[in-house]
Amino acid sequence: MSSMTTTFADLTTIGVGGPISSFIEPADDDELIDSIRRADGGRIPLAVIGGGSNILVADEPFDGVVLRDARRGVSIVDGGSTGSGGNRVRIKAQAGCVWDDLVDATVSRGWHGIEGLSGIPGTVGASVVQNIGAYGQEVATSVRSVRVWDRAALVVRDIEASRMGFGYRTSMLKHSMYQAPGVPDRRFFPTPRFVVLAVEFELFRTGYATVGYGQLAKALGVEVGAEMEPARVRTAVLSIRGAKGMLEDARRYNLAAMRGMRAQSGLAAALSHQKGLDEESLADRHSCGSFFVNPVLPLRRGATLPPEAPRFEAVLPDGSPGVKTSAAWLIEHSGFARGFRVTPQARASLSTRHTLALTNRGGATAEDVAVLARTVAAGVLSTFKVDLMPEPVIVGVDVP
Ligand SMILES: Cc1cc2nc3c(=O)[nH]c(=O)nc-3n(C[C@H](O)[C@H](O)[C@H](O)COP(=O)(O)OP(=O)(O)OC[C@H]3O[C@@H](n4cnc5c(N)ncnc54)[C@H](O)[C@@H]3O)c2cc1C
Repeated sequence: MSSMTTTFADLTTIGVGGPISSFIEPADDDELIDSIRRADGGRIPLAVIGGGSNILVADEPFDGVVLRDARRGVSIVDGGSTGSGGNRVRIKAQAGCVWDDLVDATVSRGWHGIEGLSGIPGTVGASVVQNIGAYGQEVATSVRSVRVWDRAALVVRDIEASRMGFGYRTSMLKHSMYQAPGVPDRRFFPTPRFVVLAVEFELFRTGYATVGYGQLAKALGVEVGAEMEPARVRTAVLSIRGAKGMLEDARRYNLAAMRGMRAQSGLAAALSHQKGLDEESLADRHSCGSFFVNPVLPLRRGATLPPEAPRFEAVLPDGSPGVKTSAAWLIEHSGFARGFRVTPQARASLSTRHTLALTNRGGATAEDVAVLARTVAAGVLSTFKVDLMPEPVIVGVDVP
């Protein structure tokens, strides 16, 4: 593939971002680690990416190396007959494996533990960077260990889940690319110090999945806590996500730069499910998912929010109790409706189905998205005095 012509717009779900000097896809461990070592040794900017679904990159050329892991193998480490109590299965997935292909493969065997995370775009490697979560599940619960390349110590390490620093949409991997919240560590950013090579998961081999989330329970017509086949949960999650535009546009895997990433069966199913959607509905999928994290505020600060604002118990970074509120609620109640655009001609807008997703309606630039993000964040700040923090990794763009 010609590295000269690949752009971040080709490689990201939101479809924005400038041209890349060197795009490489190593297909084995040695080549992968050598490429990282060469870039780091030469102080060349390095971005390791997966599905490009949690990253917003500037329109200017990226004068460095963009590396996408082409290793997508999944193997069974312990099939459940020994060592793990019979009901558990341990599997190892290489970092480049598309997340939803892994979920599909495990659910189709009747295994459960990650079925609630169906349809989240991206790869296995990135799933542990921000501890993906949805519908009452977080990947952290099913991770046993993570194999990484440590770019500082120049060694391969196996990190136990208990040492991963998993939290709400974060991990010590994510922290390792920042000096302080929002302040990139130039030695590593926009990629963690620890590049994920593989993840070992422990799933349940037998029994039923538990429905752990109100909206999902409602869609399934059951109570929270009900148990059922993991495949039923997966189907319901995919349908809720589809209705909210919170699935990626599967047509992107037909682009030259994306071809071969998804398992054929997964891609065929995703394409058939989105058949018949009009271009506006598909544009709702051209996003980075939720653009802002739900703010976690000190208790005193939380008490000053309007009584009707959603509130959930949470813990602040320093370990003290806090209150989590909903970024979507704050945005809506600051006067930004679904579909909001800064001007009628703007090429970026809030999704027409979900206020938390910033979308590319066709031909948007990173700056168009940034203008929208800054406008929304400024509106929330002036209405509620709450700073919204972006969820995606922001590279070279002034947000917010
Ligand atoms: C429509 C949509 C819906 C979404 N819904 C959810 C949701 O429900 N829950 C949720 O948690 N997230 C959600 N997301 C966000 C996103 O899918 C996840 O964060 C995902 O894990 C990102 O994976 P990726 O491979 O695309 O990462 P990328 O965007 O490619 O990279 C993100 C970051 O991870 C780093 N990274 C990538 N691969 C590696 C690796 N091998 N080792 C170390 N670092 C690496 C990159 O350097 C970068 O810093 C959604 C996104 C979209 C577009």
